[in-house]
This record gives sequence, C-alpha cells and structure tokens, in this order.
Amino acid sequence: MKINFHDLQTQYHCYKAEIDHAIQKVLNSSQFIMGPEIQEFETALQKYLGNTHVISCASGTDALMLALMAIDIKPGDEVITTPFTFIASAEVIALLGAKPVFVDIQKDTYNIDPFKIEEKITSKTRAIIPVSLYGQPADMDEINAIAKKHNIVVIEDAAQSLGAEYKGKKSANLSDMGCISFFPTKPLGCYGDGGAITVKDEKLAEKIKSLRVHGQTRRYYHKYIGFNCRLDTLQAAILNVKLKYFADEIEKRHQIAARYNQLLAKLNIVLPFVKHDRTSVYAQYSIRCKNRTELLDFLKNKNVPTAVHYPEALHLQECFQYLGYKRGDFPIAEKAASEIMSLPMSAFITAEEQRYITYAIQEALEHELVV
Ligand SMILES: *Cc1c(COP(=O)(O)O)cnc(C)c1O
Repeated sequence: MKINFHDLQTQYHCYKAEIDHAIQKVLNSSQFIMGPEIQEFETALQKYLGNTHVISCASGTDALMLALMAIDIKPGDEVITTPFTFIASAEVIALLGAKPVFVDIQKDTYNIDPFKIEEKITSKTRAIIPVSLYGQPADMDEINAIAKKHNIVVIEDAAQSLGAEYKGKKSANLSDMGCISFFPTKPLGCYGDGGAITVKDEKLAEKIKSLRVHGQTRRYYHKYIGFNCRLDTLQAAILNVKLKYFADEIEKRHQIAARYNQLLAKLNIVLPFVKHDRTSVYAQYSIRCKNRTELLDFLKNKNVPTAVHYPEALHLQECFQYLGYKRGDFPIAEKAASEIMSLPMSAFITAEEQRYITYAIQEALEHELVV
C-alpha cells in the first residue's frame, strides 16, 4: 500500500477539467498580475467568511506581515504569541524589529493559554497573535476580551484553520484581523504560495491593499513604505475552483478524523481534543506518545508517512536565542514538541488506508515500542 501524507494528486484529478480550464483561461488573457480572478476570489472568500474585508496576498507569512505593518508595528513594540507554532507566526514580529513575547499553551488543544496572557502584557504590548493550531480555533472570546481591556489588536493566525468554526462563526473572521495561507498542503491550498488577510476595519483594509502594492494609492504615487506581495492571478483561478468544493472537503475531513478517533480510541496514545463549542478542520491529525522516535521509525518501515509539527518550540530556536529564553520556560509547549506527531490526513484518504495505519500503530504498541 502506498499512502500519501497529503493526497494532492488525487485532489487534482478530481477537479482536473475545471482547474485546467481555469488555468488556460488566465494564460489566454495573460493578465497574470491582479487579473479579474483576484477580485472574483476575494469576493467569494468574503462571502464564505461573512462580514469582513478580504485582501489576497502572496503567502500566509505575507498576510501576517501585512497585518503587523497595517498597525505600524515597529522596534520597541511587543507582540504576544505562542511558542508552539510554525516559525512564521513569530518571525514576522522580529522582522519588523518588534519583540515576540511567548505565552505557554493549553495541554489539550495546544493553543495559547488565555489565562497566561495578561501577566505578559506591558505598556509596549501592541498585539496578540493567537494561532488556531492544527485547524482548531484558539479561545478567541477570552483573547478578544483581554485585548479590548488593554486596547491592543488581535490577529488570528488562521493559516491552518480556514473552514473551522468557533461558536458558529468562521475562523479567520473571529477578531480584528485574520491571516490565511493557501500553501498547497493547507486545508484550502493553491499550486504554489498564496495567502489572504481579513480585516474588519475599512481604513485598515484600504491601507493593506496599498501596502501589498508598494504602498501606492495610485500608480507610482506611494503613501506608505510597502512591498510586493500580491497573489498570482493563476493561483486565484485555481482557488476559485477549489473553494467551490471546500465545504465538501471539510465535511470529509470531519468524517476521516472521526474514523481515526474511533479506530485509535483503545490505544495508549493521546488523540486530538476539540472543544465542544468549535470545530477543527484537522490541517494536521496529531497524536501524542512518549516514545515518538520509535513509533516514527516503526511506521516508516511500514510505509506509513508521518510528520512532526513541530519538533522544537520557538523559544528554543537558534534564531530566537537573543530573546534570552531557556528550556523549562514553557513546559507544556516543550512537552508537546517532544511527543507530538501527525498522521496522514486529507479529504481523500480511504478507510482502508486508515485501518492499515491503525494496525501499524497497534503493532508498534504490542511490540512495546511505545509507552
Ligand atoms: C503555514 C503557516 C504559516 C505561513 O504560511 P505560508 O503560506 O507558508 O507563508 C503561518 N502560520 C502557521 C501557523 C502556518 O501553519
């Protein structure tokens, strides 16, 4: 059996005729930069998300960057985020010369612990970037309330969570701003890099639109120092096709996660935990076990692809050494980083594949490789 970690080829073949046609249409028009497909996609995504402005951009990282630039984050500022995430969530803070301030996570959801945020707020704190990790929204109500009290901005890093719901509302539209990634293996992926930012405030929306095109307000007149981070028309054309099937894919992801939950229920591993008032899109289906290295090796020998999201917490990364954190500062994040691992997940994985994966894990447990 050949199992794919993310089944992008099967997905392409499902929508091939429509995607090929959409690509061909862009090639024929040759409007590669800001062609009509961009506006079409932004409108469609806005409709999907509800009441917010949607501005597409070149990647999820650029979306985070635009969000911070829009509120003029500068050297001396502090921005709070989680140490258990992809590097981009904190990298953009540092790139603008501001200071990433980490707050430990909850041990069941792996999202930032809102009860530990307030003690880290200082007069320099300008924003909080909660990450909706693995596709499950963070505790946004609690976080928004803290931010409101201290007059700071909340930017949801929704790179993994487009399609998830929180108290009936859509992830990426749960706070002042939301940042989405269309990296190919994210829940809604394009065929290269892509991203989008959502923003409630009309003035900020105008500013972000300008920032993504060198800060210009009209051609060759520049109000802000911006940069170039537009989404390609080709990617927008692909996303227009895939967005139509996105709700179906989310439904399938829920079914597949439920099947994993059921198959793996009796085994001595920690399964994903989703709070009752929200859903996850399972960007990753991540489990935890003590002897991770042994289980990863065993599964590799059984041709089961796996991944680790993420093996090292951000406060321990070499690039952030200058922040002065040390091992032990965020014990829950550190423990998660040492035990977490992700199983194959996509809307296209079959029940047979899931059973094969489960048997392999069970076998490893029986060999007492994993405790
Ligand atoms: C993927 C990801 C990003 C960055 O998105 P890119 O499109 O790859 O730039 C940011 N934050 C998180 C949590 C991510 O998973």
